[in-house]
This record gives sequence, structure tokens and C-alpha cells, in this order.
Amino acid sequence: MNRVTRLIVSVLIFCFVISGISAQQRSVAAVFPENAQLGTPLTIAVSAPSPDNLTASLVAINGERIGAVSRFFTLSPENPSIQVSITAVPSTAVPGAARIVVKNNSQEIARLPLNIEARSFVSEEIPLNESNTAIRTEPDPQKDRESQILWQILSAAGKEMYSTDAAFILPVESTRRTSFYGDRRVYLYSTGRRDTSIHAGVDFGVPIGTPVKASASGKVVLASPRIVTGNSIVIEHFPGVYSLYYHLDEIHVTEGVMVTIGDMIGLSGSTGLSTGPHLHWEIRAATENADPDAFLARNLLDKDAIISKINGLSAE
Ligand SMILES: [Zn+2]
Repeated sequence: MNRVTRLIVSVLIFCFVISGISAQQRSVAAVFPENAQLGTPLTIAVSAPSPDNLTASLVAINGERIGAVSRFFTLSPENPSIQVSITAVPSTAVPGAARIVVKNNSQEIARLPLNIEARSFVSEEIPLNESNTAIRTEPDPQKDRESQILWQILSAAGKEMYSTDAAFILPVESTRRTSFYGDRRVYLYSTGRRDTSIHAGVDFGVPIGTPVKASASGKVVLASPRIVTGNSIVIEHFPGVYSLYYHLDEIHVTEGVMVTIGDMIGLSGSTGLSTGPHLHWEIRAATENADPDAFLARNLLDKDAIISKINGLSAE
């Protein structure tokens, strides 16, 4: 090689290295959808150089964090650089402009705007008889243990994607809903006192013995009687995302088994704190109560959409 050729080759190598470094150092992120309501589940996708400990949090315009911090997992083995996280806008968040902050360890690597739309919720008063009042108000170490066990399950750092279903399905055929997601409840105790609560799921008024189906494929991570929620089933679908089925008359699955979307997992009932036969169906994402209906309408892990969006942003 003469001097000129050597120079050209050196410059080309230099440019190649520089472009490689800048491509490598750039983090890109996207959120689906960009306009959310209270309760809307969010899919956050990130492609970052050397991601080590990625987390996402929803932050209000005043800088306060809203709700839980969510972790990330690999979308698919074919695309190891794309990490996703699923969370939900809490039903108690203040509507308006917000943002999602993605961090790698403690360093902020991406910031995504999110508009949270207002939404109204039903207000309801629920009179409780003596035994239901006791379930809610009397201290009980067993009740505390059950809460701890459920919290450990819902906050665990899962890695497996058990569900590749396009969307979730309703757990019962009935469309008769007796309570809705986010209902602002006032419990009227038999003692004359009262307490407030927010309904975390959807209640279907169905007769005792109605077959209950798995809303999506997954692994049964809880199948046992509980004091407040009666006979209960929890299914893990993908990291941080669980469906919950309460007040069952019979449980037909055991912890650890895999279920397929639509499988019959038990029969509805009225066990635990219940004022009549119904199925309580709830979905948690990163420990937050998400609006279950949003899971019926949309595939939260739409690989084609996520990969093309991230690849498009990377190419910009
Ligand atoms: Zn309920």
C-alpha cells in the first residue's frame, strides 16, 4: 500500500469505528400507547447498549413518581437487544401530561412523554353484614401472611414468557357485570363505621358453579383458599403480569401447572368476603391494578410492532 491508500484506509477505519461507537452508545425507547387512560397497561420497549439493570417509572409533571417501578425482560431470543417492560397507569393517578423515565442502574437513559386522559369511575356503597365486616376489620395473622405471600408473587422478578396469545379472553361467558374496574367503594360496616376502597378488578355476577377459564396461557402460581378473597387462583403470563380469580367455589388446578388460554381452571362461587355469587377477575402489571378490558383489546407483546418501532428509531 502506498501512503495515500494507507491514509484512505486509516480514515475509513476511523469513520467505521466512530459510527460503530455512536450507534452502540445510543439508547432508543418507545411506549405503547402514547395516550393512556387511568388503568391503561403500558408496554415500554428499549434498545440500550450494555443494559444491566433496566427499570421504568411513570413520573408526574411535578417530578413525583406515580405507582410502581417496573423491570424489563427480553422480548425474544432472536432480538436480544430489545428489552420490554409492562406496567399500568394507576387508577388513582392525576390525569395530564406525564413521562416515563427509563434507567440503567441509576442512570437515566430515556425519557418518553405520556399523556394520561381523565376517566370517571363508578361510586358505590356496599353494606357488609357482621361476618363480612369481621373479615375486613379484625386483625388476623393468617390474613397478613396471605397478603405477604401474594405480594411476593406479584412483585417477583419473572423471566419467562408463558403466553404468546394475541390477546386475553374473558374468564366467563357472562357479560353481566356487578362491579367495574376502579370503582370507588365505601364499605358500610355492621358496626356503623365505614371505610373506603378502590375495586381492583371486574366482578361478573354469575351463578355458583359457572366454569371459569384461564384468560391467557400461563403458569399457576397460586391456587388456594384465602380469608379475604376466598378460593383464589393466580396465573403468571409474562414477567410481572398476572391474572387473578377470586371467590371460587372450586379450584381445579394446582400450583406449578401450566394452563392454556381458555382452559377451565375452576368454578365460580361466593367464598371469602363476598356479598353474593360472583367472579372477581383482576390483572396486575408490575404490581399495579391494570384495567382488565385493555388486555382483551390489545396484544401487549406485539413483537412485529415493537421491533419495527425500535428499529425505526435506531435508524433515525
Ligand atoms: Zn371484585
